[in-house]
Amino acid sequence: MFTEVCRADDAAIARAAQLIREGALVAFPTETVYGLGADALNAAAIPAIFEAKGRPSDNPLISHIADWDALEGLISETPNETACRVMQAFWPGPLTLIFLKGKNVPDAVTAGLDTVAVRFPSHPVAQKLIRAAGTPIAAPSANRSGRPSPTTAQHVAEDMDGRIPMILDGGACGVGLESTVLDVTGERPRILRPGGITKEMLEEVIGEVDVDEGVLGMLREGAQVRSPGMKYRHYAPMGEITIVTGENASRHIAQLYDEAKGTAAILAFSDADYGTRRVYRLTDASGELFSVLRRFDEDGIAQIYAEDVPLGGMGLAVMNRLMRAAAFRVIRAE
Ligand code: AMP
Ligand code: MG
Repeated sequence: MFTEVCRADDAAIARAAQLIREGALVAFPTETVYGLGADALNAAAIPAIFEAKGRPSDNPLISHIADWDALEGLISETPNETACRVMQAFWPGPLTLIFLKGKNVPDAVTAGLDTVAVRFPSHPVAQKLIRAAGTPIAAPSANRSGRPSPTTAQHVAEDMDGRIPMILDGGACGVGLESTVLDVTGERPRILRPGGITKEMLEEVIGEVDVDEGVLGMLREGAQVRSPGMKYRHYAPMGEITIVTGENASRHIAQLYDEAKGTAAILAFSDADYGTRRVYRLTDASGELFSVLRRFDEDGIAQIYAEDVPLGGMGLAVMNRLMRAAAFRVIRAE
């Protein structure tokens, strides 16, 4: 299949919307990462998403809307007070909410769950596309399963060339990490995935919010060294990432780097001095993470030693992604 990469002008968006209506896939920019979209209400259109990504079919998709009324067609009950408050505060924006699923939503979208994930993105191209298609668009991130999420059309092309008919190029994504997924179906709101809207921002609006155990998983159990297994690896470059925490982290990172076999690199969030060693430094702890993970592959890096970041604000989302990219390989250097 030929994959067309088009600047996201009105004509291209109209053609993309037509493809969506016909049941085809289109990759499009959002404020978080690029999405791989299909008509969320067309059961026949959904399996192609899982195929193109190589995504396990038990991992549900997020349905994207571009006006408030579209929510009604996707969910089965009127949103509760918690949901209404966060929607008022953060929609359109990088917040996905979990609701009880309406009967129009195909099982393939929700992986058979009785809940549905819904987001109202703020990116103008995403909004125009959804409105022009006239239907909610189900979309996971537009990467091959297991790879870092794409934050540019070029990243999408790396993963999806030949697999989908069209990529809308809207430039680099602003947030650079996926949306926060917040479950509002239970008694207490719960973050299932940290992202563009932080825990602190949510708590200002709805009070205390739980963070699901899976968010940092093994970090909290104080994982000493090794990973529990490759099945948790995600967002990962080809090279092996090791996160080093604790007071002597930077000294230990330098030592590991010097002992490494093969090309090594350091992923730094602090301004620690690593001399002439090869350092990839992230000042803004979020937006560039995925493109740096992809750059490790381009640069042929085999071993990556990463600092950790404090868990406040976007730090929780950054560590959630980094832990998975490292397959939970964490060393404490006290
Ligand atoms: P991605 O599409 O790659 O951004 O991933 C979507 C995320 O939303 C995944 O982590 C899914 O597991 C999660 N998700 C989607 N639908 C649901 C749902 N009904 N309940 C819980 N999590 C969901
Ligand atoms: Mg994804």
